[in-house]
Amino acid sequence: MKIFKFGGASVKDAESIKNVVRVLQHEGFENTLIVISAMGKMTNAFEEIIHSYHTKKDDLSQKIEFVRTYHFNIIDNLFTNNKATIILEIEQFFGQLSGFLIKNKIKDYNFIYDQIIGFGELLSTKIVSIYLNEIGIVNSWIDVRNYIKTDDNYRDAYVNWESTLQNISTLNPNNLYITQGFLGRTPQGNTTSLGREGSDYSAAIFAYCLNADSLTIWKDVDGVLNADPRFFNNAQLLQQISYGEAIEMAFYGASVIHPKTLKPLENKNIPLFVRSFFDLESKGTIVGKGHHLLPEIPCFILKQQQILVSIAALDFSFMVEYNLSDIFKILHNYKLKVNLIQNSALSFSVCIEDKFNNFQQFLSEINQKYKVTYSENVSLYTVRHANEEAVNTIEEKGEILLKQATKGTVQLVLK
Ligand code: ADP
Ligand code: ASP
Ligand code: MG
Repeated sequence: MKIFKFGGASVKDAESIKNVVRVLQHEGFENTLIVISAMGKMTNAFEEIIHSYHTKKDDLSQKIEFVRTYHFNIIDNLFTNNKATIILEIEQFFGQLSGFLIKNKIKDYNFIYDQIIGFGELLSTKIVSIYLNEIGIVNSWIDVRNYIKTDDNYRDAYVNWESTLQNISTLNPNNLYITQGFLGRTPQGNTTSLGREGSDYSAAIFAYCLNADSLTIWKDVDGVLNADPRFFNNAQLLQQISYGEAIEMAFYGASVIHPKTLKPLENKNIPLFVRSFFDLESKGTIVGKGHHLLPEIPCFILKQQQILVSIAALDFSFMVEYNLSDIFKILHNYKLKVNLIQNSALSFSVCIEDKFNNFQQFLSEINQKYKVTYSENVSLYTVRHANEEAVNTIEEKGEILLKQATKGTVQLVLK
């Protein structure tokens, strides 16, 4: 079997969905499982719905209407006749959404988030699946939540591999399946999500559990480049990279692949192809075992909206194991992601990411025990396979707040 993953950009409008058909016709779609994300920026639009609902704002119905109109526009442009089936299916999802909004009594933000956010993927996969069936590409739509089982760590759920493997093994390898990325379900039956951009990971979970021959992630870029083309001029295609290199790049923030994607593939030696959905003749990037970086050039990774925090003891004692473990515990409690650490005798600096909006709470706790200074909205640049010229180009981009170099990797925090 082979696994394909199409992200939001590849299903953002009717034309893009027709392009997915072109990809399938070109590549073949026998024995294939296709993981699809929410359309375009719909996950962000659902985040706005969640926010309105949670804060009881009166623009809630307006936000829902925006999402409805977006999907119905696509349906209008995609289906020429016989819209009854698709409309009925889509209305069911909107019915389930309103049902939840009315009945829900639980106030926990992360729980609410996961019960709502997944409608983006449910809607997109339903539309694509019905469209493919209509044009003769016979497929089965499956609800991923019946297959990927997780704990109840909402918005960043951990996969229960044992039951997930059991469930996925029941799939028929001779079928064409369409399913959602990003989602799972707890043993209690609640929807969970695997973290933003988590559909790549979902695709890797299926690849692992089905012993797939390969996973292909279809992108709006030529493959994995040596830098994000949105922020760096002249980004170049990496023809091949090892799992290890891809893990490092994704870990440091190369948003082209979700960091959790690589490990399941590496464990079963399943090759990952990252390819352009525009240019089907191009081979893109192959990520696999023993594939050394080709071409061997410096790779640049940018993480924006970081916070650089420096922490010192109030009594000027040294920053050693005791303090450090205490600080890490607090960081962990507020789900702050640490992207860089630097320690000296009297001060400890961390570059962190506040994905869950907890920084102010973290500050008020840590301020009670330590002397804290911080700088918000800084950028973390990582240069892998760094050389002097590469590092110079980054140093020119702003005021350097921190610089750290280890074996070929240089990291800089810039204001
Ligand atoms: P999707 O969600 O549709 O799968 P994303 O938008 O999440 O796609 O990922 C593709 C984008 O990732 C590209 O358009 C590019 O801007 C960005 N990107 C960041 N780093 C890299 C990189 N090293 N190589 C290629 N693309 C990158
Ligand atoms: N739709 C989700 C997101 O935008 C998951 C994904 O696309 O990978 O984060
Ligand atoms: Mg994405």
